[in-house]
Amino acid sequence: MKQSITIIGAGVSGLVAAIQLELLGYEPTIFEANEKVGGRVRSDVQDGYILDHGFQVLLSAYPQAQKYLDFNALDLDAFESGAYIFKGGKQFCIGDPIKDTSLLFSTIFSKIGVLSDKLKIFKLTRKLKNKTIEQIFEGEESRTIDYLKAFEFSEQFIVEFFKPFFGGIFLESELNTSSRMFEFIFKMFSEGKAVIPRKGMQEIPNQLTSKLKATKINFSTKVEKVVGDIIYFSNGDTETSNFIIVATEASKIIPQLAGTKAGWKGTQTLYFEVDQIDFNRYMIGLITSEENRLINSVCYPKSILSNAKHKLLSVSIIKQHQLTHQDLIAKVTEELKLIFDITPIRFLKVYDIPYALPELSTAKMTVHPSETQLTEHIFLAGDTLLNGSLNAAMHSGELVAKAIHEKITGTMVS
Ligand SMILES: Cc1cc2nc3c(=O)[nH]c(=O)nc-3n(C[C@H](O)[C@H](O)[C@H](O)COP(=O)(O)OP(=O)(O)OC[C@H]3O[C@@H](n4cnc5c(N)ncnc54)[C@H](O)[C@@H]3O)c2cc1C
Repeated sequence: MKQSITIIGAGVSGLVAAIQLELLGYEPTIFEANEKVGGRVRSDVQDGYILDHGFQVLLSAYPQAQKYLDFNALDLDAFESGAYIFKGGKQFCIGDPIKDTSLLFSTIFSKIGVLSDKLKIFKLTRKLKNKTIEQIFEGEESRTIDYLKAFEFSEQFIVEFFKPFFGGIFLESELNTSSRMFEFIFKMFSEGKAVIPRKGMQEIPNQLTSKLKATKINFSTKVEKVVGDIIYFSNGDTETSNFIIVATEASKIIPQLAGTKAGWKGTQTLYFEVDQIDFNRYMIGLITSEENRLINSVCYPKSILSNAKHKLLSVSIIKQHQLTHQDLIAKVTEELKLIFDITPIRFLKVYDIPYALPELSTAKMTVHPSETQLTEHIFLAGDTLLNGSLNAAMHSGELVAKAIHEKITGTMVS
């Protein structure tokens, strides 16, 4: 008998689940609340500028990205490894001198941290090179801040480099995030590059979608709840399915999980049009956390179309505040001038993203596929299952597809 498989959510995890199910011979159906694919990975076009819904990057060393994405077709722009750090009215460029020897002197002699911190960066890079991703996620877990202190990085280096850099990645500046995530992301940065497709991050889910040949995607179709094998839609319709993959936060649509709502970390990204790029290198600009500013980072994304008249500036905020959009734009404009000496031509758009990364009590790399099964008919996918990253979202999609295949055939695929 032909089994019906339904996926709720066309984010990265739902799309990879569909790809994997097709590879195993199934024809799933996706219901997506939005009018396009991508979930948290989406982009808009405004006046020739491609605006990602929140600043984010793909790390080319992610094993799952290497498996599911065609990097060449994505036309990737790679950031140089390092960052401009703004401190006390001065700008310092620090980077990974192993990858780019031209960064050796600026890194060693920068006034960010002390020499022993820079040597410890080499030591940490070496340590993590010898540690597999599996070992990282099986290893001990503490808060990143405690891990850095135990590694004996100076307080100064933590405040001036790790807090703004990893705070911008974890979307929390105290570095309470799991040290496993820190080791994983650090390893991914040192073994690959941070990249953005020339046409914006939306190209990633678009490319995944282009691989689907037998999957039907229903857009603008919001699911209200799932009970047993019945899917209840917001418009009052219902449908039954043998296997239902919930590839989004499950507590919102599965009544028995209502009490287990995940915590989320949020961010805001503001885009401005500027007449010039002030950084010689394609890197992000960070403000040391002791400056206590609203802005976490700035960068000049290259994702612009030929009809754009000027350049694009993206500004990321991770600090909590109560400002209205108008006051936020005014405050950010003031800090851009004061710290970076940037005077934008005009403000383009602000994205408020309260649900950017899940707050998880533990970070996992993987689980046994059977652990994705919640009830007889309901299976779970999404980054919330493992850790907040594109790599985890993709992997969860693969796991859930394998779990359903095993349920149907009794055969486990490797
Ligand atoms: C601002 C920001 C920065 C980030 N930075 C990085 C980074 O630099 N590197 C990195 O690796 N990761 C980063 N991430 C995390 C990464 O984007 C996510 O881990 C990944 O996109 C999660 O994919 P997902 O499929 O699990 O969930 P989602 O993308 O949330 O997909 C869920 C989908 O389900 C749909 N949906 C929800 N409810 C319903 C419903 N009731 N009915 C029908 N459809 C529904 C949604 O519309 C959505 O399309 C960032 C995320 C954000 C937002």
